[in-house]
Amino acid sequence: MAKMVVLYPSPGMGHLVSMVELGKLFLHRGFAVTVVTVEASYTTGAANATSDFISRMSSFHPSLSFHRLPAVSLPPNTSPHHEAHAFDLLRLSNPYLLDFLSSSRSSPVAALIVDFFCTLALDVAAELRIPSYVFFTCNASVLAAFLHLPILHTKLTASFKDLGAAHLQFPGLPPIPASDMPLPLLDREDEGYKGFLFHYDRMPEADGIIVNTFASLELRPLQAIADGLVVPGRKMPPVYCVGPVIASGDGSQTERRHESLEWLDSQPLRSVVFLCFGSLGVFSAAQLREVAAGLEKSGQRFLWVVRSPDGGGNSGKMTRAAATEPELEELLPEGFLERTRERGKVVRSWAPQAEVLRHAAVGGFVTHCGWNSVLEAIVGGVPMVVWPLYAEQRMNKVLLVEEMRLAVEMKGFESGMVAAGEVEDRVRGLMEAEWGKEMRARVEAVMAAALAAVADGGPSISALNELAATWKNLKSEP
Ligand code: UDP
Repeated sequence: MAKMVVLYPSPGMGHLVSMVELGKLFLHRGFAVTVVTVEASYTTGAANATSDFISRMSSFHPSLSFHRLPAVSLPPNTSPHHEAHAFDLLRLSNPYLLDFLSSSRSSPVAALIVDFFCTLALDVAAELRIPSYVFFTCNASVLAAFLHLPILHTKLTASFKDLGAAHLQFPGLPPIPASDMPLPLLDREDEGYKGFLFHYDRMPEADGIIVNTFASLELRPLQAIADGLVVPGRKMPPVYCVGPVIASGDGSQTERRHESLEWLDSQPLRSVVFLCFGSLGVFSAAQLREVAAGLEKSGQRFLWVVRSPDGGGNSGKMTRAAATEPELEELLPEGFLERTRERGKVVRSWAPQAEVLRHAAVGGFVTHCGWNSVLEAIVGGVPMVVWPLYAEQRMNKVLLVEEMRLAVEMKGFESGMVAAGEVEDRVRGLMEAEWGKEMRARVEAVMAAALAAVADGGPSISALNELAATWKNLKSEP
């Protein structure tokens, strides 16, 4: 009987998609794979995207099983940040995870792989004597920064939000403006901040940390971790860089091709700029109109995923499910769709992004720079304009713009309103200016390194094979 690898993602499409992709890699290595999910009462994605994704994956990969833990009711939590709620949700789900894993003993569990919000599940693994790993769905630089947080915390007395223009020094990273840290980390008193400290302090207890990156992209932070600079004086588990692990688009071959891909088929090579903002990104109606005006003035071809505004008049992270599909005619400037019909396509709410970014017609990407989106852009060889909205995306912006030089920043995003002129300027520059061309050349070089990492014999494949061999050789607990 095949040994089982159990994956335990935290809520949210970005986490689920990359965990499932990781799971498929272990399916191919002869393991049974089960993805254990928890149900969040807060919003985790565009309407029904999560359940649609699970049912598509289940039908396309019958050997990949999904198990949903019973719902839990969350205690009152004053933090406005969903990360704090995720910590509660996963803590309360721990006994159910224990029940599930205990009852699955007929198929021996080779390893439990948890998300970085779920380090309490390491206790469950320890109790059942199952090897446990953390899958870090972001990059090695952010991993190094977060692992270093408990140390930085002891050195500072003020919250990041009170440090003004100060820059934070993390081993192996460029200086990060304190204000670019994720929102839940800005206030030391916030439950989200305390949760991060707690979980990153525990992370080194895992048997290994699996990271969705490839080693050549992030030599400095990986070296800093290996040299003991990130968590001095503490033994670190091995770090396995297995990426880029990105959505393969399987399942879609049997379905009707998405309208966005059909449209791209008729566009010239590398001519289209794609705008899409993750599973949770939303803009105010006023911001959508500015983007539309900027795109129109830029004269560029574009493919734009538009979601209903959140209602509160702000841009950022969706805080409640968008109940309806956007009414494009009402939302966008009068006549915009008609005037740009020859060179632009607007799709509602969701597009098969990974496939879009692999399409030869796409030549630029305006993104919120969630890490999956960045990896998908790299694999497609597509340079980026970054417009961070939530989570660790401002940190990713610093890395992409200053360290990796694969992106430029959309100026004005901090103020919550980017002017049409800025959109016009950035989009045109990305597609036509010398800097855009140089950036494309750099992304193409990084794309080659990414593809080599996941080719036969590449370092990411070797890391996966090493994990699989370790688990296969382990004696199962009686
Ligand atoms: N995604 C997609 N279509 C969309 C929006 C998002 O396929 O219209 C996918 C995207 O390809 C990526 C994931 O959702 O794989 C988003 O993950 P990311 O880490 O970029 O951002 P998050 O949603 O976690 O903020």
